[in-house]
Amino acid sequence: MSSTGAPAHPTADDAVADGLGAVDRPTVSFELFPPRNPDAAPRLWSTVQQLAAARPDFVSVTYGASGSTRQTTRALVRRLLRETSLSPIAHLTCVGTSREDLTRTVEEFLDEGVRSFLALRGDPPADESWRPHPEGLPTASALVALLREIERRRCATSPAQAVRAASRPLSVAVAAFPRGNAGSGSTREQDIAALLAKQEAGADFAITQVFYDVDSYCELVALARDAGVVIPIIPGIIPMTDPARLRRVQQLTGVEVPAQVLDVLDAFDPEDPVDVGRRHRAGTRLGVDLANAVLDGGAPGVHLYTFNTPGPALDLLEGAGLGGDAPSAHSRVTAAPLDDPTPVPTS
Ligand code: FAD
Repeated sequence: MSSTGAPAHPTADDAVADGLGAVDRPTVSFELFPPRNPDAAPRLWSTVQQLAAARPDFVSVTYGASGSTRQTTRALVRRLLRETSLSPIAHLTCVGTSREDLTRTVEEFLDEGVRSFLALRGDPPADESWRPHPEGLPTASALVALLREIERRRCATSPAQAVRAASRPLSVAVAAFPRGNAGSGSTREQDIAALLAKQEAGADFAITQVFYDVDSYCELVALARDAGVVIPIIPGIIPMTDPARLRRVQQLTGVEVPAQVLDVLDAFDPEDPVDVGRRHRAGTRLGVDLANAVLDGGAPGVHLYTFNTPGPALDLLEGAGLGGDAPSAHSRVTAAPLDDPTPVPTS
C-alpha cells in the first residue's frame, strides 16, 4: 500500500480507462472444478456467468486425481470455449496415466481448440506413495516437454495447424510452491529446482499453491529469480471467508492456516446469519490485504481459488479494486463496515 492508503498498483478503473489488456493491469484469473454430478452443472454455470463479469484473463479448470474427471473437465472446458468469451486453461496430470494415454488426451483437447494447459504431476491416492506409471511420465516438467513435442509434431505435419498455432500459440502453465510442497514432501529449494526444470521444458508461467502471508510469495519469487527462473509467478489466493474450507484445504495440501487467521474467523458464530455476514467481511478484508500486498510486492496478478462459489472471490477482487464489471451487490458487501448487520449471500 502507498502512504495514502491507496493501492500502489494500477486498479481496474485504470484498466478500463486504458482499455482491457492494458500493459499495467494486473491479471485476474479463477480456478474452477468440474461439476461433481449433473445436478451441480446449472449452479456452476451461474457461477461462471457471475465470475465472467470480473473480466478475468483466464479461468483454469481442475483435473481430478488420476484423470478421474477427464470427461467432466473436458466438457466444462469445451463449454467455456463455445459459449463464453473466457479463456480456459485445462489442468492435466500425469499420475496413473501412460504416455500414450496422455498424448491422446492432449490431442483431444487440442482438437477442441484448447490452447492453454496447466501441466501437473498430480498426487497419488491418499494411502499410497508416489510412483510413476510404468509407461508414464515422472514429473510435471516431463509433461510440459510432452505438450511442446505434440504441438511441434502437429505443426510439422499440418500447414493449417502451423498457421493456427502461429495465431494462437500454445501456452503452458505450471505449479509453484511458496513454502515447499508438503503434499509431496519436498522443500522450497527442491521445488525451485523443479520450477527451473519446468521452465527449461517450455513452461510460460507459474501459479502458486495457496499461502497466507506476503513473505511466502515474495521469498519464493526472489529465490526463484536467483536460481534462474524468469517466467511470471502468479500468486494463488484463497478467499479467507470460510474457516471450515480453509481447514479442509490444509488437510489436502499440508499448507497450514495461520492461527491469527483462524482466530479472526472463529470469533464469529457460524449459526448466526448476522455473525456469518460479519465473518465474511472480516475474511474478505484479510484476502484484500494479501492481494494488495502481493501486487505491491510485484506480483503480475492474482489467481483466485473459487471453489465454484463466486461471492467471496468477487468481493475480494472488488476490495482490491480489480472487480471489473462484477455486480455492485458484491461491492456493497465489502464496503459495509464490520458491524453492519446485513447478512451476506453465500454465492
Ligand atoms: P512436480 O514438479 O513433478 O513435482 C513433484 C515432486 O518431484 C516434487 O517433490 C518436486 O520437488 C520433485 N521434482 C520434480 N522435478 C524435479 C527436478 N527436476 N529436480 C528436483 N526435484 C524435482 N492436482 C490434481 O490432481 N489436479 C489438479 O487439477 C491440480 N491443480 C493444481 C493447481 C495448482 C496451481 C497447484 C499449485 C497444484 C495443483 N494440484 C493439482 C496439485 C499437484 O498436482 C500436486 O501438488 C503435486 O504433488 C505436485 O505437482 P507438480 O506439478 O508440482 O509436480
